[in-house]
Amino acid sequence: MTEGTVHVIGAGMAGLAASVRVAQSGRKVVLYDAAGQAGGRCRSYFDETLGCRLDNGNHLLVSGNAAAMAYIAATNAAATFRTADIAAFPFLDLKTQERWSVRPTEGRVPWWLFVPGRRVAGTQAWDYLDALKLSRAAATATIGQTLNAGRVIYARLWAPLAVAALNTEADHGSARLLGRIFAETFGRGGAGLHPLYPKEGLSESLVDPALSAIQARGGELRFGQRLRNLRFDRERVLALDFGREDVVVEPEDSVILAVTASVAKDLVPELYPPDEFRAIINAHFRVDALPGEAYTFLGVVNGTAEWIFLKPGVISTTTSAADRWIDRDAEDLAAALWRDVAKAYRLDPDRLPPHRVVKEKRATFAATPAQLLRRPKARTRWRNLVLAGDWTDTGWPATIEGAIRSGFTAAAQIAA
Ligand SMILES: Cc1cc2nc3c(=O)[nH]c(=O)nc-3n(C[C@H](O)[C@H](O)[C@H](O)COP(=O)(O)OP(=O)(O)OC[C@H]3O[C@@H](n4cnc5c(N)ncnc54)[C@H](O)[C@@H]3O)c2cc1C
Repeated sequence: MTEGTVHVIGAGMAGLAASVRVAQSGRKVVLYDAAGQAGGRCRSYFDETLGCRLDNGNHLLVSGNAAAMAYIAATNAAATFRTADIAAFPFLDLKTQERWSVRPTEGRVPWWLFVPGRRVAGTQAWDYLDALKLSRAAATATIGQTLNAGRVIYARLWAPLAVAALNTEADHGSARLLGRIFAETFGRGGAGLHPLYPKEGLSESLVDPALSAIQARGGELRFGQRLRNLRFDRERVLALDFGREDVVVEPEDSVILAVTASVAKDLVPELYPPDEFRAIINAHFRVDALPGEAYTFLGVVNGTAEWIFLKPGVISTTTSAADRWIDRDAEDLAAALWRDVAKAYRLDPDRLPPHRVVKEKRATFAATPAQLLRRPKARTRWRNLVLAGDWTDTGWPATIEGAIRSGFTAAAQIAA
């Protein structure tokens, strides 16, 4: 062991990524979580009603998510994913019944913008210059203030992308953040846009391999441990208060706090993290036969569902920035979402399969310009305390990629 123990609180993607990195550096890791399992907002579970395992959400990763790919490599989990051969994002507009597929060419030069069949239907190559306006927008500007919301490209590209990547309605989402995401994904060409699907589930691909990697390096896992308090002196954290027991933080030890923003706010003095959140609704329909190939998806414009994923035995829908639907009755929602699925795949809208609707009211913080200003850096004024989580200042929205980046940053701070 190089130095003291690193205590990581929170075993979501951020805490797992930090623990993997720290363990691989040769330091002892103890990973705690309040829940009985790891994964946080990115995990799978057995659903009694449907009699199968479900993911808590449809978490889309693409091959250009650099931190996520490094994490998957470090945890030896590449074989648990199926990676699409091509970068293709099929869409359907439910209002007009138009279908198209956005198919970026592999290289960095965006030839695809000049091929009508590869762009969003109804758009021209020059429409995509909007990306520059987004990147150059003021930090305080929203997407709605930066782009003309009346244009086809807004309704069919910028709005769906903002809602999916920022989990924030386009009119209020940060223009600069959307510009950055577009530049770092579509701007780098199709090679970085091949979708990755967990073959079994999120836990089997993103959680279990990490736990094995941590344990293989001598790391310790402690579940069912809710941190109630951090005891500080002026310079450092002295102890972790888990209610029944206190864990002493020795002078050579470090602490990575990788809990949610609202929990961190209560544990760390003078921390004012993002405090506005947006909901995500997922519906899972259990089916005997899929209406298309498994491990594919469809983007939906002008529907209640925004994305439809086909997985073995299950059709799942995702609706992000879903606060307007969150109080609606789950049965009503299931029926509305199934009508969208039925229209998209020409199924019977009245034959609702067994289903489960999962509403996550505070799925992620809202990526508005004002909320982004509240994101804290990893380093704190206590020399042995570092923050991690999708809400810290990663430069990315609250996503798996952002959470993993934050974990890697925290581990690097500890090493430094
Ligand atoms: C429904 C849904 C769909 C999503 N879809 C996508 C997507 O398609 N693509 C994408 O990239 N991202 C998606 N996300 C976002 C992504 O899941 C999150 O950004 C990411 O998982 C956050 O990881 P985290 O480690 O920062 O936080 P969390 O996963 O919230 O981890 C925090 C952990 O801290 C633990 N904890 C809390 N309080 C305490 C305490 N006092 N003591 C000890 N432990 C504590 C919690 O139990 C939890 O395990 C989605 C999220 C949701 C909810």
